[in-house]
Amino acid sequence: MRILVTSDIHANLAALDAVLKDAGSFDQVWCLGDTVGYGPEPNECINRLREFDLICLAGNHDLAVAGKAALWDFTQDAQEVIFWTRHWLTSNNLDWLNSLTNTSLVMDHGITLVHGSLRDPAWEYITDNNAAKINLDLITTPICLNGHTHFPAIYRKPWDDWRILEEQPQVNSPIRLTLDRMLINPGSVGQPRDEDPRAAYAIVDIDAMTYTFRRVQYDVSSTQKLMKQANFPSRLIRRLRFGQ
Ligand code: ZN
Repeated sequence: MRILVTSDIHANLAALDAVLKDAGSFDQVWCLGDTVGYGPEPNECINRLREFDLICLAGNHDLAVAGKAALWDFTQDAQEVIFWTRHWLTSNNLDWLNSLTNTSLVMDHGITLVHGSLRDPAWEYITDNNAAKINLDLITTPICLNGHTHFPAIYRKPWDDWRILEEQPQVNSPIRLTLDRMLINPGSVGQPRDEDPRAAYAIVDIDAMTYTFRRVQYDVSSTQKLMKQANFPSRLIRRLRFGQ
């Protein structure tokens, strides 16, 4: 079974479509949250995802658009687009967004999915070894896939070692999901922040128990054009070009 793992699509359809094309065949999509927010095509992204066999978490932006999270925790720029998205979503897609109640899920095959972290599923950013260690101690499965930071990352706690090892995700080189505890972030499809503007995602092969990190170029300018037309804050438009 081949799983397409996406996170933080953020209503960027050009990026999502590039990922779907690049991924080849897959049996299921796991989406780690923040399907909407920041980007100009929330309905189109939701409609596209719903074409597939989909397991989808709620992220903090999804919760905010659905009216389930306070807005003061977001930047002014993010809030503007949350309001815009709430207004722009069809009632059917708003219902769908509302139906996303899980910010974390334990799957079969020893894999947990979470938007932010196990300690704080919608909000915590795991950006260093300390946060990774606390959360690796909380997981009940060997593997946990998380999103939210928009940074691809791998934290590993070898089964025979107390240390946390941080590894640089390498594009197109499968890693084995073994007995080590691992916290793995596939990065963001629609708004990467690791200075690489290409959409980031991953493929998990459940039979081989491998994880493969991938990147794909997409037409950034087409997304930026739609953001301009919708009068989105210029900082949000600019950052896509630089992967920031
Ligand atoms: Zn996000």
